[in-house]
Amino acid sequence: MRPPLAATKLSIVAPCYNEELVLPQFVARVTAVCRQLGCDYEIVLVNDGSRDRTHAVALQLAQADPHLRVVNFFRNFGHQAAVTAGLDLAQGDAVVLIDSDLQDPPEVIVEMVARWRDGVDVAYGQRRSRAGESAFKLATAKLFYRVLSISTKNTIPRDTGDFRLMDRRVVEVLREMRERHRFIRGMVSWVGGRQEPVLYDRQARAAGRTGYPFAKMLSFAIDAVTSFSVLPLRLLTYSALVVLALTLVMSIVVFVMKLVNPGYFIPGYASIMLTIMFFGGINLLAFGIIGEYLGRMYEAVKGRPLYVIESLYPPVDPRRR
Ligand code: UDP
Ligand code: MG
Repeated sequence: MRPPLAATKLSIVAPCYNEELVLPQFVARVTAVCRQLGCDYEIVLVNDGSRDRTHAVALQLAQADPHLRVVNFFRNFGHQAAVTAGLDLAQGDAVVLIDSDLQDPPEVIVEMVARWRDGVDVAYGQRRSRAGESAFKLATAKLFYRVLSISTKNTIPRDTGDFRLMDRRVVEVLREMRERHRFIRGMVSWVGGRQEPVLYDRQARAAGRTGYPFAKMLSFAIDAVTSFSVLPLRLLTYSALVVLALTLVMSIVVFVMKLVNPGYFIPGYASIMLTIMFFGGINLLAFGIIGEYLGRMYEAVKGRPLYVIESLYPPVDPRRR
């Protein structure tokens, strides 16, 4: 049983990258939702090395409202690192992850909290619709979820972002998971417990521009698949088996042809070139895929911190965290 709502604390964690235009509106809407819920709350804004005035705006808001905390990174570490820092610092009995660009409507938090009260450990937002996205983004997102569900055997729900509420127990497990290439929604699925969707309509950005251009999205997708699946490696093994079987068939064909018509194989330039090119390509691909995993192991072994904090507001002695 959860303690009464009035006695619990809710943490709202929001990564911010160049969001100076939306931030005041975002904080106002989240604050309204938290007041309506009537519990204690904190809003943790993580400024991920913005190049605009996001930090100044966040500080200004925080000075006017003790519910706000601001974490400032030394540089841009990426959305997943910003979320990680927020999870590390959040103190609530339940923690909500939400984008600060108002694409995730804060009002949905009310239903997430209700689910949590019912005993659900993770209430994740699942997009019923997506407004204001390009056809290209929708198509690539669809492809991404398909590849992901094939390679992870459907263990990660589709059409979900990081917008979700998590119970403290789940957050504590996540805090133990210091893996480098982070795909947080997958990591949350891995933890288990009662996880249920809350349907919502994803909005268009309130202002500003996306911080996820195509190259970043692609590398995020590769992180997602390689963090949760060794299927690409296994496909290499399978293709090697297929190639070996083909080679066996070919040898038999060649042998028989040699017996029947010894002169047949002299003009073999084209077939030899094609074969060399084909296997050259397969080899390069194999190295590339193995390299993806090897590089990730290399980075994991280095064990560097996932982010570097420049300052906190209100200032807290980092050694006491
Ligand atoms: N964001 C971040 N660091 C980045 C890029 C984005 O903290 O390097 C934040 C951004 O402020 C937003 C959320 O992550 O709150 C989602 O990013 P964005 O809206 O740019 O991505 P999209 O919704 O277009 O996929
Ligand atoms: Mg967005």
